[in-house]
Amino acid sequence: MSTLQNVRRFVVKIGTSTLTHEEGHLNLRRIEALVKILSDFKNAGKEIVLVSSGAVSAGVARLGTHRPTCTKEKQAMAAVGQSELMKIYSRFFSDYGHTVAQMLLTKDVIDNPVRRAAAEDTFETLLEMGCVPIVNENDCISTTELNFGGNDTLSAYVALVCHADLLINLSDVGGLYDSDPRKNPAARRIARVEKIDEDVLAMAGGAGTARGTGGMATKLEAARTVTEAGIPMFILNGEDPHVLYDLFDGKEIGTYFAAQKQ
Ligand code: GLU
Repeated sequence: MSTLQNVRRFVVKIGTSTLTHEEGHLNLRRIEALVKILSDFKNAGKEIVLVSSGAVSAGVARLGTHRPTCTKEKQAMAAVGQSELMKIYSRFFSDYGHTVAQMLLTKDVIDNPVRRAAAEDTFETLLEMGCVPIVNENDCISTTELNFGGNDTLSAYVALVCHADLLINLSDVGGLYDSDPRKNPAARRIARVEKIDEDVLAMAGGAGTARGTGGMATKLEAARTVTEAGIPMFILNGEDPHVLYDLFDGKEIGTYFAAQKQ
């Protein structure tokens, strides 16, 4: 697709259900495949920001405990899991010659112009230095007032703050369908969305999986945020991260949300 030829800086969001096995442990094979491919894109001159979920799940798995039942448990488990996640990313990226940088954000960073400008400067500087910023919500201090409501939303703001050319949402569903593909095998994939209107929103259905927090509705909200700011977005199935090569090779996959202005 010709639109991608000019993409230099892009944000990839990967969700918990794509990063972890059924029982919550990190899916190292998939993470390593993703890291290798992102490293290759970097070698080809692209600038990449990775928005990664999985902190809470990785913390639960590491502690060998139950899913969090209250905010303070969730915060503590995220604190354990976030360092676990970064350790894995750092090891894999460094195997391919790249350096990662952790950026943990809360909603007030976006709302406060001074803090937002600081985040903008840090992203810019890290990308100039050739690093791969890896972003998550700062779950261990996040409360209802401070949180983004999930990483689909976070990834949209990150795309805005780092002035990305494209946002790619790697999900456990391969795009927007006219009905839920998990329930209806005849569901039809929508290849391209020009505008997110009421008809498109009606296709979204409910929430996501037991491990992840996002569903199609939050992805469409994220798409609306970025496309209105002039940044296109894709939803792709992240089960096999090689879809990123397919996308840049021009294959018609996933759902493309066209930017509303240039
Ligand atoms: N920040 C959460 C985590 O790392 C994930 C939020 C989401 O899945 O949207 O566990």
